[in-house]
Amino acid sequence: MQPYRNLIFGFVFIISLMIGLGGFSLFHLNNISKDVENIYNHPFAVSNAGQSIQTLVFAMHRDMKDVVLAKTPEQVRATLEQVHTHEQKVLKEFDIIFERFLGNKSQIKQTYQTFIEWKNIRDEVANLALAGETEAAAIITKTRGAQHVDKLLGEVHEFVLFARKKADEFRSQSASNRDHSIYVVSTISFLTLIFSILIAFKVIARIQKAQKELGLREHLVDQNIMMATMDTEGVVLDASNALCRFLGTTKEEMIGKPSHFFDNSDNQNDLSEKIWRTIRTGKAWQGEICHIAPDGLLHWASSRVLPTLDENFKVTGFTNLLQDSTSKKLSITDKLTTLPNRRSFEEVLQREIKQAYRHNRPITLAILDVDFFKRYNDTYGHPQGDKALRMVADCILECLRRPTDFAFRIGGEEFAIVIADQDLQQSQVFLDSIREKVEALEIPHSKSDVSGFVTISIGAFWTRGSDNPDKALLYAEADKALYLAKNSRNQCVVQSASLLEDNAA
Ligand code: GH3
Ligand code: MG
Ligand code: MG
Repeated sequence: MQPYRNLIFGFVFIISLMIGLGGFSLFHLNNISKDVENIYNHPFAVSNAGQSIQTLVFAMHRDMKDVVLAKTPEQVRATLEQVHTHEQKVLKEFDIIFERFLGNKSQIKQTYQTFIEWKNIRDEVANLALAGETEAAAIITKTRGAQHVDKLLGEVHEFVLFARKKADEFRSQSASNRDHSIYVVSTISFLTLIFSILIAFKVIARIQKAQKELGLREHLVDQNIMMATMDTEGVVLDASNALCRFLGTTKEEMIGKPSHFFDNSDNQNDLSEKIWRTIRTGKAWQGEICHIAPDGLLHWASSRVLPTLDENFKVTGFTNLLQDSTSKKLSITDKLTTLPNRRSFEEVLQREIKQAYRHNRPITLAILDVDFFKRYNDTYGHPQGDKALRMVADCILECLRRPTDFAFRIGGEEFAIVIADQDLQQSQVFLDSIREKVEALEIPHSKSDVSGFVTISIGAFWTRGSDNPDKALLYAEADKALYLAKNSRNQCVVQSASLLEDNAA
């Protein structure tokens, strides 16, 4: 959340600016519209009404002249009717002015009063005209009447002027409102634009940084993690460069081809079958694979094959994660025969003794030694001796079928086998079959006193787990048995604590 705080703050700020901008614009639009409404409702209405009164008063004054000039009383009355109509109109205009005038109302009252007073003069003239005193009526119309009309027109002119001034005021106020709005709206818009650009830059910079970090991480994974993705048939879809280096190949060579889980050893088919059995059920497989590089060197890797599941838990492919375990493997593997070495033997023997004790099951330790091997080397040469040792080792390994049987090369031409959970007789039969199979390899050994082929002697010690046997003791007893076997060679001697007791008796 922390890295996004500034961005969130920026967005909130821009949104606030925009809301402010909207609110301010609405407020000023409302003001401008009010000003326009005011101009229309007040000064314009008053000034129109004033001008209308002026026109009507002129007309009335002219009508009064007609009254004076009228020949008959009917003509006088008809003209007075006209005057009366004009008066009604003037009164209506006064109503508007009373309602809309924004200045001092007493000014209107005064003018209204002047208009009312004019009616007295009108009545006076009308009466004289009706009485046939046209001369007197004409004098009043020309003197007092005319003066009164001038006064009335002057007063009306006053508030028409006031209304115009007021209109000017509203207009300039509206113009200043408009200018102010333009200034504020432009400033806020400009600020919003600047902040938006800043935030856009910040967002772009952040995305670029994230992309760079992601790219770097991808590169690190690609270079350091041995990884491959596969389809449901185990065909390689993608592989990291680290894996390509380990396998001594290239992405192009791998993609689109069956992976065989990157094991190309003799064990490949068995292992593949085992892995498929596990991963097809949607479960991950974990174990060790062996890869023979193009230069013939063996490499080992601990491997995890993880099924990829879709939302319906259907397997859509696999991800294979591997870790080079070659050096670890080599440290516990004998180079010549690839069997686990003496160090591994010590560890496994200790572990199996514990297991035998815990589960109260028997354990057998056998030591296998090639007969007359010094002579073999002397006769066929050391490299041929190595070859023979490898053949013997492979043969021993082939004989081990149970996952609880382990074979090791523990010295020059010496091997060891740890057998768990087999009784004395089973161990005897099993070990003797190994001895027979080695001889059946028919590796010629012309200098052997016991056979024409390479043979082995086996000494073993069988004990119950409940006896909680000691590792050194177990080894010493197996070695003693081997010593006995060497008496005539190409034989297998399996001893046990009870047998030893019987012999002693
Ligand atoms: P025995 O039947 O009594 O066991 O006689 P042996 O000749 O096998 O026994 P000895 O211990 O006298 O000789 C063991 C020989 O094994 C000596 C050595 O030359 C040979 N040897 C030990 N390690 C290797 C190896 O790695 N390669 C080869 N080619 N020979 C080895
Ligand atoms: Mg030996
Ligand atoms: Mg030997």
